[in-house]
Parts: sequence; C-alpha cells; structure tokens
Amino acid sequence: MASYSASLTDFCICRADYWKSQPRKFCQYCKCWIADNKPSIEFHERGKNHKENVAAKISEKSIQKAKQEERMSKEFAAMEEAALKAYQEDLKRMEREATATSSSETPAKKPQKKAAKASGKGQTANRRAGLG
Ligand SMILES: [Zn+2]
Repeated sequence: MASYSASLTDFCICRADYWKSQPRKFCQYCKCWIADNKPSIEFHERGKNHKENVAAKISEKSIQKAKQEERMSKEFAAMEEAALKAYQEDLKRMEREATATSSSETPAKKPQKKAAKASGKGQTANRRAGLG
C-alpha cells in the first residue's frame, strides 16, 4: 500500500518536470499553448481551427478599423455641418444687420414723401428688438 502511493507521487513529479522543461509558445489566435518546436507549430498552424481563428481575428480587425473610420468620418461630417450652420447663422445675422441699417438709412436719405411710413418703421424696430 505504501509503495503504491510513493510510486504515484513519483509519477506526478515526473510529469510536472516533463511539462515544465518543454518550451511552449502561446498562440494568440487560438489562446492556447503549443509546443515550441517547428513540427508542432507547423502542425498547429496548418490546423483548421487555427486558420479559422486567424481569419476571424483579421476580419474582426478590419471590421473594427472600418467602424473607426466610419465614426471618424461621421464626426468630421458633424463638425463640418456645425461649422456650416454657424457660417449660415453668421450670414443670416449679417443679412439682418445689413437690412436693419439700410432700412433705417433709406427713409432718412429720401425726402419726406415717405413720412407716413415712420410709424411702421417704429413697429418693425420694436419687433426686431424683441427678437434680438
Ligand atoms: Zn493557433
């Protein structure tokens, strides 16, 4: 009985030493360890599972890249749109200001023929003030 357990322990130590002494290589595609020697690596890399994992990894990367590029282009488009909006807002404001100055100048330049419009001009001025 005692001799049996002793031989079992010896066997376990032997196995552990055997695995420890073997240099191993980690396959990042399969997330597994393979023996670090040429035949083993070649055998593993020829394997269907490994090839599928490599293909999956590559497609995953290309998808991620495509997504990133799409997001960047979207962000760029959003930035461009915002800039365009701001520009248009500026144009509108400038237009409003231009019409405001020209409309206030026009009656003053012209002789009193349009004096009747003075009250109307006052109304628009009030409305403009309310908007601004
Ligand atoms: Zn692999």
